[in-house]
Amino acid sequence: MKSLVLEQKGELALRDLPIEKDEVLGPHDVRIKLHTVGICGSDVHYYTHGRIGPFVVNAPMILGHEASGTVIEVGSAVTTLKEGDRVCMEPGIPDPNSRATRMGMYNVDPKVRFWATPPVHGVLRPTVVHPEAFTFKLPETVSFAEAAMVEPLAVGVHAATKARIKPGDIALVMGAGPIGLVTALSALAAGCARVYVSDLDDAKLAIAASLGPITPINVTRQSAAEVILKDTDGWGVEVVFEATGSPRAAATIFEALCPGGCVVMIGGQPDPIAYDAGAAMIREARVENIFRYAHAFPRCVAMIGSGAIDVKPLITRTFQFDESVHAFEIAASAPSGDVKMQIELPQ
Ligand SMILES: [Zn+2]
Repeated sequence: MKSLVLEQKGELALRDLPIEKDEVLGPHDVRIKLHTVGICGSDVHYYTHGRIGPFVVNAPMILGHEASGTVIEVGSAVTTLKEGDRVCMEPGIPDPNSRATRMGMYNVDPKVRFWATPPVHGVLRPTVVHPEAFTFKLPETVSFAEAAMVEPLAVGVHAATKARIKPGDIALVMGAGPIGLVTALSALAAGCARVYVSDLDDAKLAIAASLGPITPINVTRQSAAEVILKDTDGWGVEVVFEATGSPRAAATIFEALCPGGCVVMIGGQPDPIAYDAGAAMIREARVENIFRYAHAFPRCVAMIGSGAIDVKPLITRTFQFDESVHAFEIAASAPSGDVKMQIELPQ
């Protein structure tokens, strides 16, 4: 049975990669047959650069961490899942005894093992063994494709939670990529009256504008701060989400922020960046940082299941598993207007 293997930087192959030690089913584990796996920017970055910060691909690694599937076997102590259940999976497994985990911040446990982060394999493969505690049953109203969007959506929900949005707040999301758009959806679900989304790409902004009370701003033609300050009589937005990972965008995070507002840093920054401490000070700005998410998956499943959040417009292309290498080549070319690409595994 084949997996999608990143052999080294720039080289992908569909081939057998035996990983017996990952296949042992413990009493608290379930075995899942994978159905749909989303392609994440991090997967593409490992493919094109061979590393993200300190995480370096030194040995062949299976990609993929945004996944849904069907339970095919359960461990002897599993009580909440059974064979045949449709599920999505949280890809980071912390050490249950670590200090961070015991404090509830399991996502920042230094020992967390996260799919498709070297040396941990991802899930573009036929089956995976995963803890029951990080596997979430899907209601019938949630498709496998939507369920594979729960992982990126969890980032947006975690960011909106950190922002402590109040009903009627106005937000700016910088960046209309998958994470920017799930953040905009999460901000609206959390009670924002309106959300501005800024980006350079008109096609992505058009998708953003179709998602709800969202005002697109193309920053190649307009300054986000100018538009927002004009619309709000000079006051600004209560929340700014930085979801570009661009140092240039991050240098402007306080420009559109109202006094007492909150900035949430989402986009990864590989190097130190400029931060306008004076602009933060005169606003008494609160700045939050997030790393992945914690406790968000059940909320995401519930919101997709009830229709409170619709992630379907973000899924712009679906590939079959045997086209995986081609799919990554397309993803690496960052086509305009593509938000989330997904791969379906043979069932
Ligand atoms: Zn991801």
